[in-house]
Amino acid sequence: MSLPIYLIGARGCGKTTIGHLLSQTLGYAFNDTDHHLQSSLQCTIAQIVAEQGWESFRDKESASLIQVTTASAVIATGGGIILRPENCQHMREHGRVFWLKAEPQELAKRLTVDPEAGQRPTLTGRPITEEMSDVLKIRSPLYSSTAHHIIDASRPPQEVVDNILQVLSQQRA
Ligand code: ADP
Ligand code: MG
Repeated sequence: MSLPIYLIGARGCGKTTIGHLLSQTLGYAFNDTDHHLQSSLQCTIAQIVAEQGWESFRDKESASLIQVTTASAVIATGGGIILRPENCQHMREHGRVFWLKAEPQELAKRLTVDPEAGQRPTLTGRPITEEMSDVLKIRSPLYSSTAHHIIDASRPPQEVVDNILQVLSQQRA
């Protein structure tokens, strides 16, 4: 059995896209904390936040993280998963953590063209590049300290996957 692989990073960095590809290549299961949360509660993240607030959403997200943690799985996480120290500790202790790192301009560009971007409420209501810049200023140190490995997520998806596979093969050597 192999340790779970956690993908962390801001909205739009490719956790879902890369997670799918990587899990197929490794023959692992693919789990996504956002999808798990939404399907177990039968509502969208936007609804949970609107009806119960961010703290309640974060509680549910932490519970989802624990529930999706299994061996031989690639786990895509929500962008704010690193805001709770216990989530960071859980990921570091149970598996290998990869930060998919990309610049705010790149993230904003992807989210603008992706209709799923509207799925979660913006944190400030301001233009997306500005918001991503501010969010990353606060979150980058948390992504960095939680990750075992940092991957350049601005590369094409297959290259990102190959870089992760290379790190994993070095670990196992
Ligand atoms: P996340 O799950 O981290 O929020 P997604 O995997 O949903 O990110 O990707 C957000 C958008 O960016 C999607 O439209 C996806 O196709 C695109 N995307 C993801 N990774 C890359 C990449 N490496 N290069 C170019 N576009 C990407
Ligand atoms: Mg995603």
